Amino acid sequence: GKNISEHLPDDAQLFRLGGDEFAVIVTQVELEPLQHTINTIHLALESAFCIENYDLLVGASIGLSHFPILANEIGLLLQQADIAMYSSKKLATLYTIYDLTLENNAAEKMNISASLKRAIEQQEFELWYQPIINLRNNRLYGVEALIRWPRPDGSYTPPSVFIHIAEQTTLINQITDWVMQQVAKDVEHFESLGLSLCIHLNLSAKDLQDPNLVNKSISLVKGNHSSQKIMFEITESAMMTNVEQAKGAMAQITAAGGTFSIDDFGTGFSSLELLRDLPVTQIKIDGSFINSIHHSDADLAIVKSVIFLSKHLKCNVVAEGVERSATATLLASLGCDLAQGYYYSKPIPISSFANYIQEQQSVSAVANQNSF
Ligand code: C2E
Ligand code: CA
Ligand code: CA
Repeated sequence: GKNISEHLPDDAQLFRLGGDEFAVIVTQVELEPLQHTINTIHLALESAFCIENYDLLVGASIGLSHFPILANEIGLLLQQADIAMYSSKKLATLYTIYDLTLENNAAEKMNISASLKRAIEQQEFELWYQPIINLRNNRLYGVEALIRWPRPDGSYTPPSVFIHIAEQTTLINQITDWVMQQVAKDVEHFESLGLSLCIHLNLSAKDLQDPNLVNKSISLVKGNHSSQKIMFEITESAMMTNVEQAKGAMAQITAAGGTFSIDDFGTGFSSLELLRDLPVTQIKIDGSFINSIHHSDADLAIVKSVIFLSKHLKCNVVAEGVERSATATLLASLGCDLAQGYYYSKPIPISSFANYIQEQQSVSAVANQNSF
């Protein structure tokens, strides 16, 4: 990759604010030359980075603030540029110039991250579990841990609202720490129910970059002296953020007995190189392909191909988001190993698991009676 500064005007100054955030100070105030600078930054980044044979798709989100018109103090300028940058990221625009109307969103975001901090300190989260079913025998194979954040009124703030905000800071690492600690406790609960499950938990891109991830994961995996197994779900884009680092961390965790699943497969890069090079033993086909297999030939073809690919890579394959019995039947006939979705069960609190198991047993008892 080329140095970004080569593409900037001579008098521009480039600063790294930390992580993947940079600030550029330019003296151009006319929009036209400024747009030219912005375009060259985008172009420079788009001419793909190639690291150890991986083509990395790198992009930039750009937010602008104007000295001294919008702010005359560096802290405020950076804050405004940051707010404009997030708006640009969200709307996938080339750039956004700060203005006051952006503040509402930003204020909401700040609100959520402030309450997230409190939620972490006060341990306000709950960890719920969604059953994953073995399609060969319709038995419970495992569970996926999904975080829940209760509101005082008894409803829940959905993870889709707060996880991506947590991911913009190190709050996500603290959330993952909590999830791991909770899983370590819940393992014993599943054990006491006489179950032997594969317990899945989700990791974010920032977790893979956390230098403590390997140790924390290994102590979760090794400290687990029960018959429950631990599997980590990671999306492709999280693995792609830093392939070499991901590979190293995943190899060490695998050596300690942990396993990895590629989450939301089909929605990201669907990279065959990643499948080949990373120690992954499971592929989860994203729910957006699953419920349409009855009426979309394209989705059916994709699902069949991913199942075929998984088999040949000696990975097992999970269909996510299964909502109907006909879908489960079709998936089983296609050779899909595992299924997860509202058809079987929504995510439930661990305290409801004993009940869930009992219901399952009475259902299968009835099924057995009927077969005689
Ligand atoms: P995900 O990892 O893809 O999790 C599956 C999501 O699909 C869950 O949403 C689950 O409740 C939902 N789902 C399951 N079956 C069905 C179905 O049949 N139909 C439909 N429409 N949806 C179904 P949830 O719990 O709201 O979580 C959303 C996302 O938030 C997760 O997507 C994951 O990316 C993230 N997330 C949740 N918990 C955690 C966590 O502990 N750590 C991290 N890093 N991310 C988490
Ligand atoms: Ca997942
Ligand atoms: Ca998923």
